[in-house]
Amino acid sequence: MEEGIPRLRDPDEAKIKKARGSNWRENISSEEFVNCPICGVGLKLKRMFEHLNRFHPEIPPLDQWHDREEGVEFCDALVELASMMLEEGEHEAAVEVLEKVPEGYPGMAAVWCYRGIVLQELGEPEESLQYFKRAVELDDKCPEYWYNLGSAYIQVGGPLSEALKCTKRALGLNPDREVKENAEKLIGGIMEAVEKELERKESMSVETWLELDEHFHQGIEHVREERLDLAEKEFSYVVSVDKCSEKALGNLGLVHMLKGKFDEAERCFQRALEINPTYPLALENLARLKEIKASPGNLAELRKRVVFKHY
Ligand SMILES: [Zn+2]
Repeated sequence: MEEGIPRLRDPDEAKIKKARGSNWRENISSEEFVNCPICGVGLKLKRMFEHLNRFHPEIPPLDQWHDREEGVEFCDALVELASMMLEEGEHEAAVEVLEKVPEGYPGMAAVWCYRGIVLQELGEPEESLQYFKRAVELDDKCPEYWYNLGSAYIQVGGPLSEALKCTKRALGLNPDREVKENAEKLIGGIMEAVEKELERKESMSVETWLELDEHFHQGIEHVREERLDLAEKEFSYVVSVDKCSEKALGNLGLVHMLKGKFDEAERCFQRALEINPTYPLALENLARLKEIKASPGNLAELRKRVVFKHY
């Protein structure tokens, strides 16, 4: 396991232990058999994965199983199997097991969270974020999920405002000691980063900075989804409050550029570069803008030529 990667303490662990007896872990490698709830065949848990792949590549929805309760127990075992695989660093195998857990399983939030953790460990933080989001959608009372979501936001470079919200949420849900300590550490790191940003801003409060950060990232989201008018609104708002935000100006320029408003775009990039002469987004797009102005082409072509980094 790499250091610094947030870990999920399985909230269902107690339940799994209860269902299987406290020596559950030892049983995994023992000769004990469990029954496949789909075809009824007895098999060792560690063989279950192969069995599923071979005989039940498509697992039916949980409500179609002849005995739902047994099905849930079987899903618990799958989650446990996946968590053991994770501990042993067998990420791909763990994902395959987790993919076998059908929708309708009451611990589905944990499944999504585990998949998020795997993706983080495989170096796919952007994707992991979607899984943690799904986990908190399914169960918003679990501090682990909120903590993992918060730390995923940090991994993908923000928004810090979102990371802070999620981490505070985790702390508000009476987390265990480990999650509490990690969450407090994370908040400390976030606040340090905010303070650092504030050094460059004259007399701006933490609250204002966080609010603008939120608007900025909403703007980024709108650009991604090609909602250019909404994006323009968000970036314009940030610029109206913080005249020295080269990031907001640069991205406002980008939106103008995509809308074919080249003069406005140029003005924004230039203003951004007055604040920070080495700001790559403005530098690169200003250079592109000159080429594009010479031969505009259509919007689809234009998008390919625009540089989309939001730093
Ligand atoms: Zn079977």
